[in-house]
Amino acid sequence: MSHDTTTPRLLLVVADGVRPDVLHEEIAAGRTPALAALATRGGLHEVTASFPSVTGPAYVPFVMGRHPASVGLPGLRWFDRSRRLRWSTSQARSYAGIDIWHVDRDVAHDAPTLLELVRPSLSAMSMLARGATHGRIGRGIGWMLRAAPAHFRGDLAGWRRVEQAATAQFLRRFARVRPRLSLLAITSPDKFAHKLGGRSDAVRTALGDIDAAVAEARRAAHAGGWGDTLHVWLVGDHGHAPVSRHDDLHGWLEREGLRVLAHPQLGTRRADVALMVGGNAMAHLYLAPEERVRRWWPALAPRWESLAQRLLARESIDLLMVAHDGHTVELRRADGAQAHIIRHGEGAATRWDYVPQSGDPLGLGGAHAGLDAAAAWAVCAQTAYPDALVQVSLLASSTRSGDIIVSAAPAWDLRARFEPVEHVSTHGALLREQMLVPLLLDVPARAPQRTTDVVPSALALLDVAHELPFDGQSFLAPRPG
Ligand SMILES: [Zn+2]
Repeated sequence: MSHDTTTPRLLLVVADGVRPDVLHEEIAAGRTPALAALATRGGLHEVTASFPSVTGPAYVPFVMGRHPASVGLPGLRWFDRSRRLRWSTSQARSYAGIDIWHVDRDVAHDAPTLLELVRPSLSAMSMLARGATHGRIGRGIGWMLRAAPAHFRGDLAGWRRVEQAATAQFLRRFARVRPRLSLLAITSPDKFAHKLGGRSDAVRTALGDIDAAVAEARRAAHAGGWGDTLHVWLVGDHGHAPVSRHDDLHGWLEREGLRVLAHPQLGTRRADVALMVGGNAMAHLYLAPEERVRRWWPALAPRWESLAQRLLARESIDLLMVAHDGHTVELRRADGAQAHIIRHGEGAATRWDYVPQSGDPLGLGGAHAGLDAAAAWAVCAQTAYPDALVQVSLLASSTRSGDIIVSAAPAWDLRARFEPVEHVSTHGALLREQMLVPLLLDVPARAPQRTTDVVPSALALLDVAHELPFDGQSFLAPRPG
């Protein structure tokens, strides 16, 4: 079946950390001809990532069609109150380190990946790739050992060489297997962006590597006689924004007299707070982490409200969220504006209300009621916080999320110590520059909104029938008949 010349196939390329404006400029300048050819047939769109806007969680939408918190991946770093994780130090996960090997098992087992739904499948360098039938290049121990020295020294040229070698191996196997679904993630743009800026020449050079890989994939498919069956889409996982100030939240909490459990200091006994910064422009705070069941804010407020207020008063913090129950989230902005975001119903019938209590923290022009997922996206589209209603609602009310969630102010992130490489650009926050990502399609589409839309759309493209409860919606027109 896989070797016929009529079955449609999809190569999904992940341009990790690439800003939409940079991709647009490189295409317009003629420096990425293979990507330009895709755009000519379909189009280059700007869509929203998930919050937190960080690698790992932000891969879930286009690999599983779900919000990361809906399938149990609330952050790059998170704390497991329930004590259900195996192979975990102090029940704290950090996918910035060796825990990367647990991502596939940490996400819900009953929520399938694209690689499980469409086979044969092949993956390279993707943090999340459960079920790839023909391998996960770049993720074995050998590749880890090759990449580790460059990773920890911040040797970006070394990292790029390892990634180019993995890409070459991916392309050889791609030509042989002819996968119906393949996933190629290129992470050097993100690494270059952190060190040199999201709009730097180095990021553009890395985009050139992506263009070369797409050109080679298409050449190989045509040489094998199946070029006409191959579609290529490209998606970003998160944006990038300049950062110049790093708040040591860990140290501040300790100066508040609290015992803090945070990476890499996971040995803290009887911790008062588990601080899980990810991005690094967002953080989860788990209060009284020894308690195994999450309690909602009304039960926590008597002890913790004053800490929440002092936290929000910090210059580094823009937004603070606490969940009143499994469907009501209180959102506060640093200027005192405050609103409730309420979710009703399930699946396609889910609706959102925005109920300002004081001011209008999301800048939506007042209250909104009964918005479906598309309308909730649309009311936020032009604001400072794209897709905030749905993103805040799904993240803050998840059982694996922190009791307090904060999103950093522009130019700030929230981790000052223990960072191996100095960085000038960041992501993770709910801010526009960090939430907007490119989506390049080689077919016409109607108004893609979110990275979660990629999975149901890919299944439509590949003619795969399903009745799965995705958080996204297909942007491809329904097939006639
Ligand atoms: Zn990054």
